[in-house]
Amino acid sequence: MRIQLLPNQLVNQIAAGEVVERPASIVKELVENCFDAEATEIDIDIQQGGMQMIRIRDNGSGIVKDDLGLALSRHATSKISSLKDLEQVASMGFRGEALPSISAASRLTLISRVEGANCGWKVIADGTENEFDPEPEPHPLGTTLEVRDLFYNIPARRKFLKTEKTEFSHIDSVVKKLALSRFDVAFRFGHNQRQLLQLQVAETESQKLDRIAQVVHAEFVDHAVKVDIAASGMELSGWVGLPTYTRSQPDMQYFYVNQRLIKDRLVTHAIKQAYQDVMFHGRHPVYVLYLNLSPSRVDVNAHPAKTEVRFREGRMVHDFLFKALHQALADIRPGDEAQPEIIQEVMNTVEPMSTSTLSQPAQQSFYSEKQSRIPMAVSEQINQYARLYPEADPVDPSQPLPEESQGMPPLGYAVAHLHQVFILSETAKGLVIVDAHAAHERINYEKFKASYYQGQIPSQPLLLPLKVHVSSQEADIVEQEQQSLQELGFDISRIAPEKVLLRAAPALLGREDLDKLLKELLTDWLNFGNGQTAEKRSNEILATMACHASVRARRKLTLPEMNVLLRDMEKTERIGQCNHGRPTWIEFSMQELDKFFLRGQ
Ligand code: ADP
Ligand code: MG
Repeated sequence: MRIQLLPNQLVNQIAAGEVVERPASIVKELVENCFDAEATEIDIDIQQGGMQMIRIRDNGSGIVKDDLGLALSRHATSKISSLKDLEQVASMGFRGEALPSISAASRLTLISRVEGANCGWKVIADGTENEFDPEPEPHPLGTTLEVRDLFYNIPARRKFLKTEKTEFSHIDSVVKKLALSRFDVAFRFGHNQRQLLQLQVAETESQKLDRIAQVVHAEFVDHAVKVDIAASGMELSGWVGLPTYTRSQPDMQYFYVNQRLIKDRLVTHAIKQAYQDVMFHGRHPVYVLYLNLSPSRVDVNAHPAKTEVRFREGRMVHDFLFKALHQALADIRPGDEAQPEIIQEVMNTVEPMSTSTLSQPAQQSFYSEKQSRIPMAVSEQINQYARLYPEADPVDPSQPLPEESQGMPPLGYAVAHLHQVFILSETAKGLVIVDAHAAHERINYEKFKASYYQGQIPSQPLLLPLKVHVSSQEADIVEQEQQSLQELGFDISRIAPEKVLLRAAPALLGREDLDKLLKELLTDWLNFGNGQTAEKRSNEILATMACHASVRARRKLTLPEMNVLLRDMEKTERIGQCNHGRPTWIEFSMQELDKFFLRGQ
């Protein structure tokens, strides 16, 4: 067979294979064209999930009559003209192939009117034509693109279209993504003559949140924190969900680079890592984030559908995102919103604790009756508390609360230890319930991390050095990891093939049960593959230690002990969740409590 040039329509149909995956891809390309034409109002109407008809009208700059044919020709664009332009694309489009591809796979009508023209002009195309002859057509300023009978001429592709419902839901999600990319544009969206979305231009913060509530989820805005950080010529803004407001699917994640919604592994990874320390295992965060940086620092020409980008300095972008979000999440403190019903939702998905740590017998209490068993640091804090807050006795009802809420710490003052598990605390707003073990675990984890990353966890010699039987592999680790164990606060050495001697342990840890913890740590060590980063490995070990150091037995805490814990919580980063991502506290406002009792109704 000899080589031949392919006919125009076939060339475009081949391109359509990449650009037009399904009706939703058409909506995306056409709306992006409206953005590029600086439209401020965009109307989207579809029939039968877009398979029968997609019509998009904008009030943008329009296309002059003589360019209508070019708009439908391959490799014709008004957006770039040189390699230099390609290296710093500021528009959504630049490949000049959306309209010809769409026209080769459907029946397309384009009507447009520019400023100064006394009417609009229309062209109809099916991808076969080389010449176009525009006809006059009444039309307001701007452009209407109508696409009918998608894939009517490509049966193989038509077979791959799904049900109306599925195709509609793809379009619905594309429209939402587009709507979140441009708050300065008004949108209207209808399916089968029913209006589904009407969004005004959003200028103020609260108008933006309104749009997000409509598009993402009404609850998201109540459980999100604002992010606004700039560094190294990059700007990150938007909203991220509290770690307690999560999803079982990654279906509420919006990330825009220079207003373009993208999917990017590096970005997803950085965000996931930022949440790693605070989110329950297997859950997915919710976010709407905007990264802006110079167009010359991203290559948008990485994919025909333009859904992927390449960062020229990937590592730097990753670190910036991670640090910015890690900090934003660490800064969440009691007093930032956290609604009980959401926590409830998370709790419903929480499996019972797999480790046995919660069901330890009572004599392993951290806050043991015997003074000698209370680790130094805590007994010191309790004394300090006693000195600082001698009069703040929250159980005395005759005592007025500290001056009008301002003087009241966010987590309030403890009133009871319920069933030796939960701390009830009266706050300015109402009632806080704290899971004492979970909170203590997070406090200890953060303390361990802080001292570990500063160089050394404070260690305390044991009165009687402890001999522990271990496997020979575990003893090997003790030998090989002397230095690391030292940094973790353990003074330990091998004294026989299967025996080690522990002389000192971290001061924060209780003295009982040390052999058990040690074995757990060594097992952890053995189980870590090489794939783990050093940081992740040490964090896991620190988490195991924190778990051991935390209140776990059922013993009544005294009010001063509980108040120390509450004050400690207020100072601790990431206190909203324990190391396993479970919530540590919830708040019920007086209004909510009133509602439970139908008061004032
Ligand atoms: P690209 O967007 O990559 O340039 P398209 O095939 O999507 O390629 O569009 C071709 C050209 O048609 C654009 O460069 C633009 O000049 C013009 N065009 C398309 N849609 C519109 C619109 N809604 N308003 C104004 N001009 C448009
Ligand atoms: Mg385009």
